[in-house]
Amino acid sequence: MPLTRLPPAAELTAAERAALVARLHERRTELAARVDARLHGSAESRRDEAGFERHSEETDDDAAAETSRQADIHALNRMAAEVEEVEAALRRVADGSYGECTDCGDPVGAARLTAYPMALRCAGCQSYFETHRGQSSQRRPVP
Ligand SMILES: [Zn+2]
Repeated sequence: MPLTRLPPAAELTAAERAALVARLHERRTELAARVDARLHGSAESRRDEAGFERHSEETDDDAAAETSRQADIHALNRMAAEVEEVEAALRRVADGSYGECTDCGDPVGAARLTAYPMALRCAGCQSYFETHRGQSSQRRPVP
């Protein structure tokens, strides 16, 4: 049985596009604030740890600090990756390709973009992409 292509999703209306662009800008601002808070927050907690007498031995504190540092790096990497996705989406807004599937050029669809404003592909292409990467269980599209 041949694969039937999904009918293309409807183009975004001007209002839908404007709302999505506003969300992308908000997301960028929010991520920048979170990166800032994470950098500040870890500096604060390091000062607190140095300032208070703790029961644990120094080696435990070192290990805890290292674990905390690793968690910070991990969180910052994830935030940086999302910032890049948001920036890429805003670049597509600027060049007029936002909302078009990067693989087939059909509209990505308002429902998909509302769920995930940085979505690159229409439902059909995303499903094909994920199958071919063996990541069909992945919740978020991979850029
Ligand atoms: Zn597509």
